[in-house]
Amino acid sequence: MDASSAEDLKRSIREIPDWPRKGILFYDVTTLLKQGSYFQQAIDALMEPYKQSRVELVLGIEARGFIFAPTVAYALEAGFVPVRKPGKLPAATFDESYELEYGTDRLEIHRDAIRPGQRVLIVDDLIATGGTARATAALAEKMGAEVVGLSFAVELTALKGREKLGKYNVHSVLKY
Ligand code: AMP
Repeated sequence: MDASSAEDLKRSIREIPDWPRKGILFYDVTTLLKQGSYFQQAIDALMEPYKQSRVELVLGIEARGFIFAPTVAYALEAGFVPVRKPGKLPAATFDESYELEYGTDRLEIHRDAIRPGQRVLIVDDLIATGGTARATAALAEKMGAEVVGLSFAVELTALKGREKLGKYNVHSVLKY
């Protein structure tokens, strides 16, 4: 994506100070999504580096990852697998805990969602500290997946999430 298109997309994302808590600047992508050409450009840019990567499954993380990941999966002609907050998936799961600013959280995936050796791409709306993405990659690897890469619409570079994903191929569309 060229610099001026990236600027347009950035301008389309609404920034909400002190939400959901004081001190957090929330990047609200709903204002990007409602404009068809911006949504399309964001999806194209998310998948661009992985078009020739023979991706078999795209993993999306609840909740905003469920907007971007299935759309990328459709475009790549891959399957979609949901990674969810605890207690939401109906069949047997594997889980992985990760650190939050205060305390820990957990993500779950169905045990039969990935076959060993499958090529997976992880997609989320935004990478901040990288904890969520790292836990998702760990789940995929535990199940024997080959993690082809991780792709994010927004990267908050100051939080250095990318460093937590050192060994993976990490791509982001819009860097702040
Ligand atoms: P992290 O695990 O710190 O990389 O956080 C990433 C997850 O939290 C993503 O699924 C985002 O949707 C959400 N998130 C974290 N920080 C923000 C933010 N400033 N604005 C919007 N979403 C955020």
